[in-house]
Amino acid sequence: MTEDLYGVYGASGCGRGVMPLARKFFERHRLPLDRLVFIDDSPHQVEINGHAVLSYAEFLATPARDRYATLAIANASVRERLAARCVRDALLSWTVRAEVSEIYDDVVIGEGAIICAYVTLTSNIRIGKHFHANLYSYVEHDCNIGDFVTFAPGVKCNGNVEIGDHAYIGAGATIRQGQPGKPLRIGKGAIIGMGAVVTKDVAAHTTVVGNPARLIQKGTKHD
Ligand code: UDP
Repeated sequence: MTEDLYGVYGASGCGRGVMPLARKFFERHRLPLDRLVFIDDSPHQVEINGHAVLSYAEFLATPARDRYATLAIANASVRERLAARCVRDALLSWTVRAEVSEIYDDVVIGEGAIICAYVTLTSNIRIGKHFHANLYSYVEHDCNIGDFVTFAPGVKCNGNVEIGDHAYIGAGATIRQGQPGKPLRIGKGAIIGMGAVVTKDVAAHTTVVGNPARLIQKGTKHD
C-alpha cells in the first residue's frame, strides 16, 4: 500500500530547525524516512540535511495515501496563506512537538502547531492554529493566544496574558503577568522586539521595543 507523505513546508532557517523534530516523530513511529521531505515554492537545492526538497506541485504529485504538512515559516501571513492552500488541496495539518517539551493541564492547542525543544506550556491555556513556540519559550497559566502567533526563541509569556492573531514576539522578550479577569493584552498583529520587557497592553498592529517596552511604530490597520 502507498505510504503517507509528510512535508515540512519551508526549507530555510525555520524549516531546518523543525525537520529534526519531525524526524524524531518518524523514528518513534518507525516510519520510512524517505517519506519525510521539505516543501518549498522556491527550492534552491534538491536535498537539505538528508531530505528531498520538493516544490508544492511535486509534493502533491507524489503518490501517497494521505499527505501531511507542517508550516515551518516564521512569517504569519505566509503561514495563513499556505494553510488555506493546504486545506484547499486536502492536506492534513501536522503538529510537530519536541520530545523535550512539557505540556501540563488543560492546554488546548489548534492544529498545525510547532512546539520546539525546551518549551513549557503550563496549565489552563488556549492557543489557536499554527502557533510557533520556538526553543526555550514558555507560556504560563491562563493565557489565551490567537491564530498564527509566533514566539521566537526564549519568549517568557507569564500568566493571564492575551495575545491576538498574527502577533510576533521577538527572541527573549518577557511579557508581564496580567490578572485574573484583567489580562495583559497584546493586540492582533503586534510586534514585540527582541528582549523587550512588556509591562502593559500593546495595541494591535504596533511595534514595541526595550525595557520597559515602548512604542516605536503605530499601527496602520484598525480592528
Ligand atoms: N516559502 C515558500 N512559499 C511561500 C513563502 C515562502 O515556500 O509562499 C519558503 C521560501 O522559499 C523560503 C522559506 O519559505 O525557503 C522562508 O524562509 P525565510 O528564511 O524567509 O524564513 P524562516 O525560515 O526564518 O521562516
